[in-house]
Amino acid sequence: MVALNPISSYKRLVIKIGSALLVDNKTGLLRSNWLNSLCQDIAELQLQNYEIIIVSSGAMMLGRQILSLNAKNLTLEKLQACASVGQIALSQNWTNALSKYDLIGGQILITPNITEQRRFYLNAQTTINTLLELKAVPVINENDSVATAEIRYGDNDRLSARVASMIEADCLIILSDVDGLYSAPPQSDDKASHIAKVSEINKEIEAMAGASSSHLARGGMITKIEAAKIATQSGTDMIITSGTKNHSLKALIDGAKHTLFSANQCPKSARKRWILGTLEIAGKIYIDDGAAKALKNGNSLLPIGVTKVEGEFSRGDIVAIFCSNEKEIARGLAGMDNIDANLAKGKNSEAIFELFETISRTELVHADNLVLVTSNIGIK
Ligand code: GLU
Repeated sequence: MVALNPISSYKRLVIKIGSALLVDNKTGLLRSNWLNSLCQDIAELQLQNYEIIIVSSGAMMLGRQILSLNAKNLTLEKLQACASVGQIALSQNWTNALSKYDLIGGQILITPNITEQRRFYLNAQTTINTLLELKAVPVINENDSVATAEIRYGDNDRLSARVASMIEADCLIILSDVDGLYSAPPQSDDKASHIAKVSEINKEIEAMAGASSSHLARGGMITKIEAAKIATQSGTDMIITSGTKNHSLKALIDGAKHTLFSANQCPKSARKRWILGTLEIAGKIYIDDGAAKALKNGNSLLPIGVTKVEGEFSRGDIVAIFCSNEKEIARGLAGMDNIDANLAKGKNSEAIFELFETISRTELVHADNLVLVTSNIGIK
């Protein structure tokens, strides 16, 4: 029987790579042949029209080796210094390996508030989308050298899940040193069975996630299950598969063993639910009939159709949109704050570009961040 390609139905993939795969645990050096083989697989996937976003660990491990800081326990300050030194080496290695296959990498360092505060969120999301449009490969890591202990993600499993949900990825692939979830730790229990698919993350599944077996990675199976919760709640499927051998992405496509955590909704509907479910409306925007029609047709809200702006809001806050009969027609994430929205209302894009020197986008609410309140406009 020919194994089915488990990623054939996806388009946008976030691939998370742990330190244990990138860095040789004996020498502390980067496993460059392995990285080259991964970049070759990424190039192949891009040719097949997949969009690839990388979340890569490894900065601290590389920094330790460069700074000769081998002690087991280092202070937070020293670890942050390692991350600072190692991140340069990590990015350089990614650039070199990607360029062997004519790919361009773009580095993004994320601090937790970038994925949680909506204004930063919109900016990070837009940069990642723009890199993808330019066919560059975003390479993301946590901004370890400045994040404090209190606000650190602490592991890239969760960070990758938040990134995947932020950019509505179809699937998060966690390349690991294990090939998936087992009913018990496979190293110590020979009755342990491999779980191919998880449709619901319940207590039983959580109990299967024992402690990490890898000494390099911060995240064991527990943080992977946490990541799976974040991803599937946002409509993103998650796959854990072994990444230890060269060409592990190709192996996955050819049907290598893995565990699939399936989301029971798509990213678009999860996002809509999130926007509609937010009780905290920061502002109200009133629009004319032309704009209402444009929204119904799936277009963005442009300032030209706006008649009145109420409330104080920042870029990224949720605003409610009302049509001329004062009924709420939609909700969405504001693309400008209330001051700019007031200045821009009623103006066409050309006038807005003249008005704001630095503005690059003129939508008040972009179609991707807008949800129609269907009960009020009679469409399903
Ligand atoms: N961000 C850390 C690093 O680059 C790794 C965190 C993790 O592996 O989960 O070293």
